[in-house]
Amino acid sequence: MASAPVDDEMFDEFLSQRGHETETVGWEENYNKKQCPDCGGLHQSEATECSVCGWSPV
Ligand SMILES: [Zn+2]
Repeated sequence: MASAPVDDEMFDEFLSQRGHETETVGWEENYNKKQCPDCGGLHQSEATECSVCGWSPV
């Protein structure tokens, strides 16, 4: 009887992808301003999205 190959790698990948999904990304704080984690642009504290690259926190 031949043993079926086990896709451990694919299963690990699936788990790590689920882990990344729960991660929330927010603004970086820099000198009382908001800094875009994507492009590093600085914005006023009332900014809701990056005017440089269009990034916004999910
Ligand atoms: Zn940006």
